[in-house]
Amino acid sequence: MLTGQMMDWPLLVSAILEHGAGTFGDRPITTRSVEGPVVSQTIARTAVRARRLANVLRVLGVERADRVATLAWNTHRHVELYYAISGAGAVCHTMNPRLHPSQFAYILNHAEDGVLFTDLTFLKLIAAVAPQLEHLRHVVVLTDPAHMPDPSELGELRAQVHCYEALLAAESDRYVWPDLDERAACALCYTSGTTGHPKGVLYSHRSTVLHAMGFSLPGAVPLAESDVILPVVPQFHVLAWGIPYAAVMNGAGMALPGPGLDGASLTALMNQTGTSVAAGVPTVWHGLMAHWQQTGERVPSLERIVIGGSAAPRAMLQGFEETYGIRAIHAWGMTETSPLGTVSTLKPSLAGVDAETRYAKLQKQGRPVFGVELRLAGGDGAALPHDGKAVGELMVRGPWIAAGYFKQPGSPLQDGWFPTGDVAHIDPDRYMAIVDRTKDLIKSGGEWISSIDVENLAMAHPQVAMAAVIGVPDDKWGERPVLYVVPSVERDADPDTLRAFLAENLARWQVPDRIVLVDALPLGATGKVKKSALREQWAAGHHATG
Ligand code: AMP
Repeated sequence: MLTGQMMDWPLLVSAILEHGAGTFGDRPITTRSVEGPVVSQTIARTAVRARRLANVLRVLGVERADRVATLAWNTHRHVELYYAISGAGAVCHTMNPRLHPSQFAYILNHAEDGVLFTDLTFLKLIAAVAPQLEHLRHVVVLTDPAHMPDPSELGELRAQVHCYEALLAAESDRYVWPDLDERAACALCYTSGTTGHPKGVLYSHRSTVLHAMGFSLPGAVPLAESDVILPVVPQFHVLAWGIPYAAVMNGAGMALPGPGLDGASLTALMNQTGTSVAAGVPTVWHGLMAHWQQTGERVPSLERIVIGGSAAPRAMLQGFEETYGIRAIHAWGMTETSPLGTVSTLKPSLAGVDAETRYAKLQKQGRPVFGVELRLAGGDGAALPHDGKAVGELMVRGPWIAAGYFKQPGSPLQDGWFPTGDVAHIDPDRYMAIVDRTKDLIKSGGEWISSIDVENLAMAHPQVAMAAVIGVPDDKWGERPVLYVVPSVERDADPDTLRAFLAENLARWQVPDRIVLVDALPLGATGKVKKSALREQWAAGHHATG
């Protein structure tokens, strides 16, 4: 081989920040803060505060490769944490506060987080599991001294409690980001498995930088210095789809909604900041459109909306484009794919097609961005044709696709490809469309519910002989779980009792709102419940629910 003679310049998260601060230093990061007021700071100021924060991490004893947890909304402070933790060589572990406390404690212990940065909102959640946290030495509350809670609000916590702004104020802005190996881990996100504990996806500096470049390509979610992007997708969901990196890399301003995710709050922040791009799951856009319809409010600056995480309904794509003149960009991805995999943009050759063809195409999950390869695997693992008809499991590979799970032996890869658990077809234009899922999971409002976990829990109740859970379409949430129960012979099952029982072990939104009592469940040849038959029965509207 004749080796190329170019520099081996490592792709590091700190390089994004320093580029952003030096080149686009005056661009704004505006936050609707957890304390209430809207606060704005520049990218340059964010870099100064991130360097101070890196010094704080040193004082707290954080070393290279240590996991540092965040439990926070989308805010400027959370962006500072992304850059400071990764930049210093530690691993930014973003925690999802919507999980049941038992899963929350499991994840903190599994990641061995020594330091946790939390918003004021989540103190009760920490208090609920405080005695179980094995490794935690420091909790830093993301606020100023005036809003600091009494440490007793954190329950029986063995860790020391600190105030974020007080720690920052005590440190110098002078900090030199270390030269790291670009393959070093920079961030960690847990994702739900079909059953059992969540699994950790460990991103590298290299994968994160390449993903940010891929994300902001013209054919994906183009980002320019003139843009202001509002990630509604939480920073605890696949690093807000990588937007905090892509925005700073390109000098796009950011509008960060804190806990204000309803239509009225989002509209106000968009208008205040001149938001031109926003990104989130369909449930959020459902709420925003309903608010616009009810109030007549509009966001004149808004040019594009990225819809992902769940299938974008056609009415939503059409509504944004035709009613509001906003380009809707439908995208597909997963925690394991950083997340961007495919984007549905219209080929120039389709520019003049009728509305039916146009939205049929845009409703598909789209074409791969450079850096992501797609393949369809048939039952025997062999590649299926891209003819828009052959249906198989979607397999992906590329530099920002996971090759393993944190502290889990073995590899999920099959022949070097990551099996997504999504069932899809790909048409000759290379548009991929998801038609089903092999994983027995339900996605509701962008969050996962494990059918198997709910079934196992239900079957632990004495009133239940058999249980099966299916996901059914829901206008607002995308999908909701429906629980089918065969009552035990000696007792009648009472839906309210069952719901109360499930609520003891599930997050509130994971509890099925509808429970159907049946004499028997349809079984397949191997004795497993035939969920396809249940879905058909549900669609035909055959059941009374409780
Ligand atoms: P997560 O790892 O929580 O981000 O979830 C990833 C999964 O969400 C994918 O494997 C799909 O099942 C689903 N998903 C993501 N985006 C879409 C989309 N645009 N359409 C349909 N399903 C999607």
